Amino acid sequence: MLPTRDVISCTRRRPRPVATYLLLAVMAAASPGAVPAELSVSVDFEGGSAVVDAIDPERRAIHVRPGGDPARGWPCWWYLRIDGLGKDEEATLVVRGSDRHVRNNGRDTGKPLASSWALPGRAACSVDGVTWLQTDPGERTGEQVSYRVVGHGGPLWVAWGPPFTLRQSDELLADATNRSPAVARAFDLARSREDRPVRGLRVGPPGTQRVPAVWIQARQHAWESGSSWVARGFVEWLVAEDPDAAWLREHAEVFVIPVMDVDRVATGDGGKEAEPHDHNRDWSETPFYPEIAAAQRRLLSLAAEDRLAVFLDLHNPSPGDQQPFFFVPPADHLGDTARANQDRFLAHAARRLDAPLALAVAPRVTGSSYHPLWRRISGVWVSEHAAADTVAACLETAWNTPHSTTAGYRGVGAKLGLTVTDYLRARSDREPASSAR
Ligand SMILES: [Zn+2]
Repeated sequence: MLPTRDVISCTRRRPRPVATYLLLAVMAAASPGAVPAELSVSVDFEGGSAVVDAIDPERRAIHVRPGGDPARGWPCWWYLRIDGLGKDEEATLVVRGSDRHVRNNGRDTGKPLASSWALPGRAACSVDGVTWLQTDPGERTGEQVSYRVVGHGGPLWVAWGPPFTLRQSDELLADATNRSPAVARAFDLARSREDRPVRGLRVGPPGTQRVPAVWIQARQHAWESGSSWVARGFVEWLVAEDPDAAWLREHAEVFVIPVMDVDRVATGDGGKEAEPHDHNRDWSETPFYPEIAAAQRRLLSLAAEDRLAVFLDLHNPSPGDQQPFFFVPPADHLGDTARANQDRFLAHAARRLDAPLALAVAPRVTGSSYHPLWRRISGVWVSEHAAADTVAACLETAWNTPHSTTAGYRGVGAKLGLTVTDYLRARSDREPASSAR
Protein backbone atom coordinates (compact mmCIF):
# COMPACT_ATOMS: atom_id res chain seq x y z
CA MET A 1 0.00 0.00 0.00
CA LEU A 2 3.03 2.25 -0.09
CA PRO A 3 3.08 4.78 -2.91
CA THR A 4 5.12 3.24 -5.71
CA ARG A 5 6.23 6.39 -7.53
CA ASP A 6 9.67 7.88 -6.97
CA VAL A 7 9.97 9.69 -3.68
CA ILE A 8 11.13 13.29 -4.01
CA SER A 9 13.56 14.00 -1.23
CA CYS A 10 12.95 16.82 1.24
CA THR A 11 16.36 16.24 2.78
CA ARG A 12 18.85 16.22 -0.11
CA ARG A 13 19.55 18.20 -3.21
CA ARG A 14 19.33 16.22 -6.40
CA PRO A 15 22.62 15.82 -8.23
CA ARG A 16 22.61 17.86 -11.43
CA PRO A 17 24.49 17.37 -14.67
CA VAL A 18 27.42 19.76 -15.09
CA ALA A 19 25.58 21.44 -17.98
CA THR A 20 22.81 22.44 -15.57
CA TYR A 21 25.30 24.17 -13.30
CA LEU A 22 26.72 26.09 -16.28
CA LEU A 23 23.20 27.15 -17.28
CA LEU A 24 22.39 28.23 -13.73
CA ALA A 25 25.60 30.27 -13.60
CA VAL A 26 24.68 32.04 -16.85
CA MET A 27 21.16 32.72 -15.55
CA ALA A 28 22.49 34.07 -12.25
CA ALA A 29 24.86 36.41 -14.10
CA ALA A 30 21.98 37.64 -16.24
CA SER A 31 19.72 38.41 -13.27
CA PRO A 32 21.96 39.46 -10.38
CA GLY A 33 19.08 41.00 -8.44
CA ALA A 34 16.93 37.84 -8.33
CA VAL A 35 15.23 37.64 -4.95
CA PRO A 36 14.22 34.29 -3.45
CA ALA A 37 10.53 33.84 -2.79
CA GLU A 38 9.19 34.90 0.58
CA LEU A 39 9.04 32.04 3.08
CA SER A 40 5.81 31.44 4.94
CA VAL A 41 4.54 28.89 7.44
CA SER A 42 0.98 27.65 7.88
CA VAL A 43 -0.69 25.23 10.28
CA ASP A 44 -4.34 25.61 9.26
CA PHE A 45 -4.90 21.95 8.43
CA GLU A 46 -5.87 18.80 10.34
CA GLY A 47 -3.25 18.14 13.03
CA GLY A 48 -1.24 21.31 12.22
CA SER A 49 0.52 22.95 15.17
CA ALA A 50 3.28 25.53 15.61
CA VAL A 51 3.98 28.98 17.01
CA VAL A 52 6.19 30.88 14.57
CA ASP A 53 8.72 33.00 16.46
CA ALA A 54 10.61 34.36 13.47
CA ILE A 55 11.33 33.85 9.79
CA ASP A 56 14.80 35.03 8.75
CA PRO A 57 14.67 35.71 5.00
CA GLU A 58 18.43 36.23 4.70
CA ARG A 59 19.48 33.01 6.37
CA ARG A 60 16.41 31.11 5.14
CA ALA A 61 15.75 30.07 8.73
CA ILE A 62 12.37 29.49 10.36
CA HIS A 63 12.10 29.52 14.16
CA VAL A 64 9.12 27.70 15.69
CA ARG A 65 7.79 26.06 18.85
CA PRO A 66 5.00 23.52 19.31
CA GLY A 67 1.64 25.31 19.28
CA GLY A 68 -0.39 23.03 21.57
CA ASP A 69 -2.57 24.28 24.42
CA PRO A 70 -1.33 22.63 27.67
CA ALA A 71 -4.98 22.31 28.81
CA ARG A 72 -5.29 19.90 25.87
CA GLY A 73 -2.11 18.01 26.71
CA TRP A 74 1.65 18.26 26.65
CA PRO A 75 2.68 20.66 23.86
CA CYS A 76 5.32 18.44 22.28
CA TRP A 77 3.69 17.91 18.86
CA TRP A 78 4.43 20.22 15.93
CA TYR A 79 3.44 19.93 12.27
CA LEU A 80 3.73 22.75 9.76
CA ARG A 81 3.76 23.60 6.08
CA ILE A 82 6.47 25.75 4.52
CA ASP A 83 5.78 27.68 1.32
CA GLY A 84 8.21 29.72 -0.77
CA LEU A 85 11.12 27.31 -0.75
CA GLY A 86 12.57 27.00 -4.26
CA LYS A 87 13.61 23.82 -5.99
CA ASP A 88 16.76 22.45 -4.33
CA GLU A 89 16.89 25.47 -2.03
CA GLU A 90 17.94 24.71 1.54
CA ALA A 91 16.31 26.13 4.64
CA THR A 92 16.80 25.57 8.35
CA LEU A 93 13.91 24.83 10.66
CA VAL A 94 14.89 25.77 14.20
CA VAL A 95 12.61 24.21 16.84
CA ARG A 96 12.61 24.79 20.56
CA GLY A 97 10.28 23.59 23.31
CA SER A 98 7.05 25.34 24.25
CA ASP A 99 7.48 27.79 27.13
CA ARG A 100 3.95 27.18 28.45
CA HIS A 101 3.51 25.50 31.82
CA VAL A 102 2.27 21.91 31.76
CA ARG A 103 0.58 19.45 34.08
CA ASN A 104 2.04 16.20 35.32
CA ASN A 105 0.39 13.51 37.42
CA GLY A 106 -2.77 15.61 37.15
CA ARG A 107 -1.28 18.81 38.64
CA ASP A 108 0.14 22.03 37.23
CA THR A 109 3.93 21.76 37.48
CA GLY A 110 4.44 25.54 37.19
CA LYS A 111 7.05 25.00 34.49
CA PRO A 112 7.37 24.02 30.83
CA LEU A 113 7.81 20.47 29.61
CA ALA A 114 11.42 19.34 29.11
CA SER A 115 12.23 20.36 25.54
CA SER A 116 13.53 16.87 24.64
CA TRP A 117 9.92 15.68 24.24
CA ALA A 118 9.49 18.11 21.33
CA LEU A 119 12.90 17.67 19.73
CA PRO A 120 13.41 14.38 17.88
CA GLY A 121 16.91 13.60 16.66
CA ARG A 122 15.48 13.72 13.12
CA ALA A 123 12.29 15.44 12.03
CA ALA A 124 9.78 14.00 9.55
CA CYS A 125 9.38 15.81 6.21
CA SER A 126 7.29 15.36 3.10
CA VAL A 127 6.81 17.02 -0.27
CA ASP A 128 3.20 15.86 -0.62
CA GLY A 129 1.92 15.34 2.92
CA VAL A 130 1.62 11.60 2.17
CA THR A 131 5.08 10.05 1.94
CA TRP A 132 7.21 10.89 4.97
CA LEU A 133 11.00 10.79 5.18
CA GLN A 134 13.38 11.65 8.01
CA THR A 135 15.67 14.65 7.83
CA ASP A 136 19.36 14.26 8.56
CA PRO A 137 20.10 14.48 12.30
CA GLY A 138 19.26 17.92 13.61
CA GLU A 139 21.94 20.05 15.22
CA ARG A 140 21.27 20.67 18.89
CA THR A 141 22.41 23.95 20.41
CA GLY A 142 21.22 24.60 23.94
CA GLU A 143 17.46 24.22 24.09
CA GLN A 144 16.84 24.12 20.34
CA VAL A 145 17.45 21.83 17.38
CA SER A 146 18.07 22.93 13.77
CA TYR A 147 16.82 20.64 11.00
CA ARG A 148 17.95 21.15 7.42
CA VAL A 149 15.30 20.74 4.73
CA VAL A 150 15.50 21.03 0.94
CA GLY A 151 12.73 22.48 -1.21
CA HIS A 152 11.27 21.10 -4.42
CA GLY A 153 9.50 24.22 -5.65
CA GLY A 154 6.19 23.46 -3.92
CA PRO A 155 4.91 23.22 -0.36
CA LEU A 156 6.97 21.26 2.13
CA TRP A 157 5.58 19.64 5.28
CA VAL A 158 7.74 19.11 8.36
CA ALA A 159 6.65 17.50 11.63
CA TRP A 160 7.78 16.04 14.95
CA GLY A 161 7.16 12.58 13.48
CA PRO A 162 5.14 11.15 10.62
CA PRO A 163 1.62 12.52 11.13
CA PHE A 164 -1.39 10.21 11.22
CA THR A 165 -4.65 12.14 11.08
CA LEU A 166 -8.32 11.23 11.07
CA ARG A 167 -8.32 11.46 7.28
CA GLN A 168 -5.54 8.86 7.16
CA SER A 169 -7.47 6.67 9.59
CA ASP A 170 -10.54 6.83 7.32
CA GLU A 171 -8.36 5.93 4.32
CA LEU A 172 -6.88 2.96 6.19
CA LEU A 173 -10.33 1.63 7.12
CA ALA A 174 -11.63 2.12 3.57
CA ASP A 175 -8.62 0.37 2.10
CA ALA A 176 -8.92 -2.59 4.50
CA THR A 177 -12.63 -3.05 3.84
CA ASN A 178 -12.08 -2.82 0.06
CA ARG A 179 -9.36 -5.44 0.20
CA SER A 180 -11.23 -7.90 2.39
CA PRO A 181 -14.93 -7.08 2.08
CA ALA A 182 -15.92 -10.55 3.29
CA VAL A 183 -14.21 -10.27 6.66
CA ALA A 184 -13.46 -6.59 7.33
CA ARG A 185 -15.92 -3.85 8.19
CA ALA A 186 -15.55 -0.38 9.60
CA PHE A 187 -17.66 0.70 12.55
CA ASP A 188 -18.28 3.82 14.61
CA LEU A 189 -17.16 3.27 18.19
CA ALA A 190 -18.44 6.61 19.52
CA ARG A 191 -18.74 10.33 18.90
CA SER A 192 -16.21 12.36 20.82
CA ARG A 193 -16.94 15.21 23.22
CA GLU A 194 -16.30 17.60 20.32
CA ASP A 195 -18.59 15.57 18.06
CA ARG A 196 -16.06 13.82 15.88
CA PRO A 197 -16.50 10.14 14.95
CA VAL A 198 -14.18 7.63 16.62
CA ARG A 199 -13.92 4.83 14.10
CA GLY A 200 -12.62 1.30 14.17
CA LEU A 201 -12.22 -1.82 12.07
CA ARG A 202 -13.60 -5.28 12.80
CA VAL A 203 -11.95 -8.23 11.07
CA GLY A 204 -13.04 -11.81 11.62
CA PRO A 205 -15.19 -14.66 10.47
CA PRO A 206 -18.64 -13.70 9.23
CA GLY A 207 -21.58 -14.25 11.53
CA THR A 208 -21.44 -14.66 15.24
CA GLN A 209 -18.97 -17.47 15.77
CA ARG A 210 -17.69 -17.55 19.33
CA VAL A 211 -14.03 -17.07 18.47
CA PRO A 212 -11.46 -15.37 20.75
CA ALA A 213 -11.43 -11.57 20.50
CA VAL A 214 -8.43 -9.27 20.11
CA TRP A 215 -8.70 -5.52 20.81
CA ILE A 216 -6.00 -3.14 19.61
CA GLN A 217 -6.21 0.61 20.07
CA ALA A 218 -3.79 3.47 19.43
CA ARG A 219 -3.42 7.14 20.17
CA GLN A 220 -4.96 7.56 23.60
CA HIS A 221 -2.22 10.20 23.66
CA ALA A 222 -2.68 12.40 20.62
CA TRP A 223 0.96 13.40 20.06
CA GLU A 224 2.09 9.76 19.81
CA SER A 225 1.52 9.54 16.06
CA GLY A 226 3.85 6.54 15.72
CA SER A 227 1.36 4.37 17.61
CA SER A 228 -1.21 4.90 14.83
CA TRP A 229 1.41 3.90 12.26
CA VAL A 230 1.96 0.67 14.24
CA ALA A 231 -1.82 0.12 14.14
CA ARG A 232 -1.75 0.76 10.39
CA GLY A 233 1.01 -1.83 9.92
CA PHE A 234 -1.05 -4.34 11.91
CA VAL A 235 -4.15 -3.70 9.78
CA GLU A 236 -2.25 -3.87 6.47
CA TRP A 237 -0.73 -7.19 7.53
CA LEU A 238 -4.08 -8.52 8.77
CA VAL A 239 -5.90 -8.02 5.45
CA ALA A 240 -2.98 -9.10 3.25
CA GLU A 241 -2.28 -12.40 1.46
CA ASP A 242 -0.36 -14.00 4.29
CA PRO A 243 -1.09 -17.48 5.67
CA ASP A 244 -0.62 -16.36 9.27
CA ALA A 245 -2.92 -13.39 8.76
CA ALA A 246 -5.45 -15.69 7.08
CA TRP A 247 -5.33 -17.98 10.12
CA LEU A 248 -5.96 -15.03 12.45
CA ARG A 249 -8.85 -13.74 10.30
CA GLU A 250 -10.46 -17.17 10.51
CA HIS A 251 -9.81 -17.92 14.18
CA ALA A 252 -10.27 -14.59 15.92
CA GLU A 253 -12.42 -11.48 15.88
CA VAL A 254 -10.04 -8.51 15.77
CA PHE A 255 -10.95 -4.92 16.58
CA VAL A 256 -8.57 -2.05 15.76
CA ILE A 257 -9.10 1.61 16.70
CA PRO A 258 -6.32 3.62 14.97
CA VAL A 259 -7.08 6.91 16.78
CA MET A 260 -8.78 7.14 20.20
CA ASP A 261 -8.29 10.84 21.09
CA VAL A 262 -9.68 12.16 17.81
CA ASP A 263 -10.28 15.68 19.17
CA ARG A 264 -6.69 16.46 20.13
CA VAL A 265 -5.33 14.70 17.04
CA ALA A 266 -7.53 16.94 14.87
CA THR A 267 -6.42 20.15 16.60
CA GLY A 268 -2.72 19.23 16.84
CA ASP A 269 -2.66 19.12 20.64
CA GLY A 270 -0.68 16.65 22.75
CA GLY A 271 -3.45 14.99 24.77
CA LYS A 272 -1.20 13.57 27.49
CA GLU A 273 -1.99 15.15 30.89
CA ALA A 274 -4.86 17.14 29.37
CA GLU A 275 -7.53 18.61 31.66
CA PRO A 276 -9.23 17.10 33.57
CA HIS A 277 -7.12 14.00 32.79
CA ASP A 278 -6.05 12.20 29.63
CA HIS A 279 -7.60 9.19 27.94
CA ASN A 280 -5.22 6.75 29.59
CA ARG A 281 -6.25 7.94 33.05
CA ASP A 282 -9.96 7.71 32.23
CA TRP A 283 -10.55 3.98 32.68
CA SER A 284 -12.85 4.32 35.68
CA GLU A 285 -16.50 3.56 36.40
CA THR A 286 -17.40 7.06 35.18
CA PRO A 287 -15.32 7.87 32.09
CA PHE A 288 -15.07 11.49 30.93
CA TYR A 289 -14.53 10.59 27.27
CA PRO A 290 -17.37 8.89 25.34
CA GLU A 291 -14.90 6.77 23.35
CA ILE A 292 -13.49 5.29 26.57
CA ALA A 293 -17.00 4.50 27.81
CA ALA A 294 -17.82 2.87 24.45
CA ALA A 295 -14.60 0.82 24.45
CA GLN A 296 -15.34 -0.33 28.01
CA ARG A 297 -18.86 -1.45 27.04
CA ARG A 298 -17.56 -3.51 24.13
CA LEU A 299 -14.72 -4.99 26.17
CA LEU A 300 -17.08 -5.90 29.02
CA SER A 301 -19.40 -7.57 26.54
CA LEU A 302 -16.53 -9.63 25.06
CA ALA A 303 -15.35 -10.50 28.57
CA ALA A 304 -18.88 -11.56 29.56
CA GLU A 305 -18.83 -13.94 26.60
CA ASP A 306 -15.49 -15.23 27.88
CA ARG A 307 -13.86 -14.31 24.57
CA LEU A 308 -11.50 -11.39 25.32
CA ALA A 309 -8.11 -13.00 24.69
CA VAL A 310 -5.79 -10.03 24.04
CA PHE A 311 -6.05 -6.29 24.72
CA LEU A 312 -3.22 -4.09 23.41
CA ASP A 313 -2.89 -0.33 23.85
CA LEU A 314 -0.34 1.29 21.51
CA HIS A 315 1.83 4.25 22.56
CA ASN A 316 5.15 6.07 22.03
CA PRO A 317 7.43 6.36 25.10
CA SER A 318 9.96 8.91 26.42
CA PRO A 319 12.58 10.57 24.18
CA GLY A 320 15.39 8.47 25.68
CA ASP A 321 13.77 5.08 25.05
CA GLN A 322 15.56 3.52 22.07
CA GLN A 323 13.72 0.18 22.00
CA PRO A 324 10.05 -0.80 22.06
CA PHE A 325 8.86 -2.31 25.34
CA PHE A 326 5.64 -3.46 27.01
CA PHE A 327 3.95 -2.02 30.06
CA VAL A 328 2.00 -4.64 32.01
CA PRO A 329 -0.17 -4.58 35.15
CA PRO A 330 1.57 -5.49 38.45
CA ALA A 331 2.05 -9.25 38.84
CA ASP A 332 0.13 -9.34 42.13
CA HIS A 333 -2.80 -7.79 40.27
CA LEU A 334 -3.18 -10.85 38.03
CA GLY A 335 -4.40 -14.36 38.68
CA ASP A 336 -2.19 -17.34 37.90
CA THR A 337 -3.70 -17.95 34.45
CA ALA A 338 -3.46 -14.33 33.33
CA ARG A 339 0.12 -14.13 34.56
CA ALA A 340 1.13 -17.33 32.75
CA ASN A 341 -0.60 -16.15 29.56
CA GLN A 342 1.12 -12.78 29.79
CA ASP A 343 4.50 -14.53 30.06
CA ARG A 344 3.68 -16.64 27.01
CA PHE A 345 2.55 -13.61 25.01
CA LEU A 346 5.70 -11.66 25.92
CA ALA A 347 7.87 -14.63 24.89
CA HIS A 348 6.19 -14.72 21.46
CA ALA A 349 6.65 -10.93 21.17
CA ALA A 350 10.35 -11.21 22.02
CA ARG A 351 10.79 -13.69 19.16
CA ARG A 352 8.81 -11.70 16.59
CA LEU A 353 9.72 -8.07 17.39
CA ASP A 354 13.27 -8.18 16.10
CA ALA A 355 15.65 -5.60 14.60
CA PRO A 356 15.69 -2.82 13.72
CA LEU A 357 13.11 -1.88 16.36
CA ALA A 358 13.87 -4.88 18.57
CA LEU A 359 11.80 -5.39 21.70
CA ALA A 360 13.41 -4.78 25.09
CA VAL A 361 12.48 -8.13 26.58
CA ALA A 362 11.83 -7.06 30.17
CA PRO A 363 8.40 -5.39 30.51
CA ARG A 364 7.79 -2.40 32.77
CA VAL A 365 4.99 -2.26 35.29
CA THR A 366 2.16 0.30 35.54
CA GLY A 367 1.70 0.10 39.30
CA SER A 368 1.26 2.59 42.11
CA SER A 369 4.81 3.92 41.74
CA TYR A 370 4.25 4.69 38.05
CA HIS A 371 1.34 7.12 38.38
CA PRO A 372 -1.12 8.07 41.17
CA LEU A 373 -4.01 7.20 38.83
CA TRP A 374 -2.49 3.83 37.87
CA ARG A 375 -5.74 1.95 38.34
CA ARG A 376 -7.32 4.15 35.69
CA ILE A 377 -4.80 3.05 33.05
CA SER A 378 -6.34 0.95 30.28
CA GLY A 379 -4.37 -2.28 30.80
CA VAL A 380 -4.98 -2.31 34.55
CA TRP A 381 -8.71 -1.65 34.10
CA VAL A 382 -8.99 -4.40 31.49
CA SER A 383 -7.09 -6.87 33.68
CA GLU A 384 -9.52 -6.09 36.52
CA HIS A 385 -12.64 -6.46 34.36
CA ALA A 386 -11.72 -9.15 31.84
CA ALA A 387 -11.73 -12.93 32.00
CA ALA A 388 -9.16 -14.71 34.12
CA ASP A 389 -7.14 -15.66 31.03
CA THR A 390 -7.00 -12.27 29.24
CA VAL A 391 -3.67 -10.69 28.31
CA ALA A 392 -3.78 -6.89 28.72
CA ALA A 393 -0.67 -4.86 27.87
CA CYS A 394 0.55 -1.61 26.41
CA LEU A 395 3.22 -1.53 23.67
CA GLU A 396 5.48 1.53 23.66
CA THR A 397 7.29 1.86 20.31
CA ALA A 398 10.42 4.03 20.37
CA TRP A 399 9.99 7.26 18.37
CA ASN A 400 13.41 8.88 18.67
CA THR A 401 15.49 6.54 16.51
CA PRO A 402 16.55 6.44 12.82
CA HIS A 403 14.14 3.49 12.44
CA SER A 404 11.11 5.35 13.83
CA THR A 405 9.81 5.91 10.30
CA THR A 406 6.54 4.96 8.68
CA ALA A 407 8.21 1.76 7.42
CA GLY A 408 9.73 1.01 10.82
CA TYR A 409 6.45 1.51 12.67
CA ARG A 410 4.48 -0.52 10.10
CA GLY A 411 7.01 -3.32 10.46
CA VAL A 412 6.38 -3.37 14.21
CA GLY A 413 2.63 -3.56 13.50
CA ALA A 414 3.05 -6.56 11.18
CA LYS A 415 5.25 -8.32 13.73
CA LEU A 416 2.66 -7.62 16.40
CA GLY A 417 0.15 -9.40 14.16
CA LEU A 418 2.45 -12.43 14.00
CA THR A 419 2.86 -12.29 17.78
CA VAL A 420 -0.91 -12.39 18.32
CA THR A 421 -1.22 -15.26 15.83
CA ASP A 422 1.57 -17.28 17.47
CA TYR A 423 0.02 -16.74 20.88
CA LEU A 424 -3.54 -17.70 19.88
CA ARG A 425 -2.36 -20.69 17.84
CA ALA A 426 -0.35 -22.04 20.77
CA ARG A 427 -3.28 -21.38 23.08
CA SER A 428 -5.72 -23.26 20.86
CA ASP A 429 -3.23 -26.18 20.65
CA ARG A 430 -3.04 -26.18 24.44
CA GLU A 431 -6.76 -25.72 25.08
CA PRO A 432 -8.63 -26.90 21.96
CA ALA A 433 -11.94 -25.84 23.47
CA SER A 434 -10.91 -22.20 23.79
CA SER A 435 -10.56 -21.70 20.04
CA ALA A 436 -14.13 -22.81 19.46
CA ARG A 437 -15.59 -20.96 22.39
ZN1 LIG B 1 1.18 7.39 25.70
